[in-house]
Amino acid sequence: MIDFDNTYSTLPESFYVEATPESVSNPVLLDFNREFASEGLGLNLDTTSDAELAALFTGQILPKSASPISLAYAGHQFGHFVPQLGDGRAHLIGEIVSPAGKRYDIQLKGSGQTPFSRRGDGKSALGPVVREYIVSEAMHFLGVPTTRALAAATTGDLVYREEPLPGAIFTRVASSHIRIGTFEYFAARHDPVSLRLLLDYSIDRHYPEIKDEENRSLCFLERVAHGHAAMVAHWLSLGFIHGVMNTDNMSISGETIDYGPCAFIDNFALDTVFSSIDRYGRYSYKNQIDIAIWNLSRLASCLVPLVHDDQKTAVSMLEEAINGYAHVYEEKRIEMMRRKLGLFGSHPEDESLIRDWLHYLEDGDRDFTLSFRKLGEAPEELVNNAFLTEFLLKWEKRRGNQAKDLQQSRDLMNSVNPVFIPRNHHVERAIQAAMEGDLSIFQDMNHFLRKPYVEQSKFESYKNPPKPHERIQATFCGT
Ligand code: AMP
Ligand code: MG
Repeated sequence: MIDFDNTYSTLPESFYVEATPESVSNPVLLDFNREFASEGLGLNLDTTSDAELAALFTGQILPKSASPISLAYAGHQFGHFVPQLGDGRAHLIGEIVSPAGKRYDIQLKGSGQTPFSRRGDGKSALGPVVREYIVSEAMHFLGVPTTRALAAATTGDLVYREEPLPGAIFTRVASSHIRIGTFEYFAARHDPVSLRLLLDYSIDRHYPEIKDEENRSLCFLERVAHGHAAMVAHWLSLGFIHGVMNTDNMSISGETIDYGPCAFIDNFALDTVFSSIDRYGRYSYKNQIDIAIWNLSRLASCLVPLVHDDQKTAVSMLEEAINGYAHVYEEKRIEMMRRKLGLFGSHPEDESLIRDWLHYLEDGDRDFTLSFRKLGEAPEELVNNAFLTEFLLKWEKRRGNQAKDLQQSRDLMNSVNPVFIPRNHHVERAIQAAMEGDLSIFQDMNHFLRKPYVEQSKFESYKNPPKPHERIQATFCGT
């Protein structure tokens, strides 16, 4: 059925606990990502019935080679350290190696209690499953490194939140589930042996090219920094707000992981926050770079015993490294934004040009996605004012000075400025309809978001920002 090839479960038992998914009353398949399953993962499930797929992706049947475990990790949640979190509602069923030779984790989320559940029920409601499915797949097709959705199924059981809700299980595929918080788990236990093992395993799995470097921990930190810098720059370029950038939600692979109260900006404002639990705006749009650097510092502090035998020397080496990487995050952001403005090469004034454009958007409460797209295709249709006039003058001059012609500039813009994003009000509609048994919005969104940079007249209505009464005030977490 699925041939797993597990490595994490061969690590010492301090890294995880063996745990099996709970049984559910009536597993029903919501969606199965067939193309990704066969082409991306090389799974042979073409003749498997929907009922069998539902049983498989709710953990009711486990292939022989499966080795279900829940991973141990710690994490800083909203700045506060929690020494033990772990997979409280997830089971890593096993790993597979794709036809391209890439190793993936197959994980069920919402599959019942584990020894890490603390007071939680280990379950997931249908809403967060629908959200993670739509948004993580959209992110992939938008070009952002991300975990993928393999399947979703309802359980037939109720999940009790503020009200009873239909339960569901999401099957997530990740290049691993090692988080900054996994390092923090062993660092907090003063266990350098496990830390070293985790570092070796992480390097083997994600950054084998640095295996023989002299100071592997520093090289590792640098790789993670570059991955996160590119990932967050990508988020910012699309108006994506992750919402819970706790260190337990930051993968060391540089993939976006743990789609909870995440959402895309409609009308642009630097301070935007969607998450209902982020009361102080710690994870607002504009804070995402600073937080990513803060998170990296948490990883750095775990590496102290691995960097140098002398603690003081280790700390100063790590501090120097962090200071050295900090600018990379902003540079990556500028790089992405330059492309969105159709600019080739780099010019010292680019940063202020980008700022002017964002200021025009924020000042007029304008839609982030549509405005970028319009700037490339029909700038004359933008609402004109003094900010825009000044911006356009500078922008046209900058574009006039580059070797590439206008068409190349436009092509570049259209390749990075999407027509479609999973707008939050549509995601909410998809969730509401799914709760009433209607999957059409969910399916539509999964369909058009496969080609986010291409106009699709049939789905025209999904392009638009919400009308005032459609605006979503707060987005709720996955729990
Ligand atoms: P999150 O903020 O969703 O990344 O989750 C943070 C921590 O809470 C992780 O350790 C999760 O496993 C745990 N958790 C979240 N929801 C539940 C739940 N319903 N039952 C048990 N543990 C949960
Ligand atoms: Mg999490």
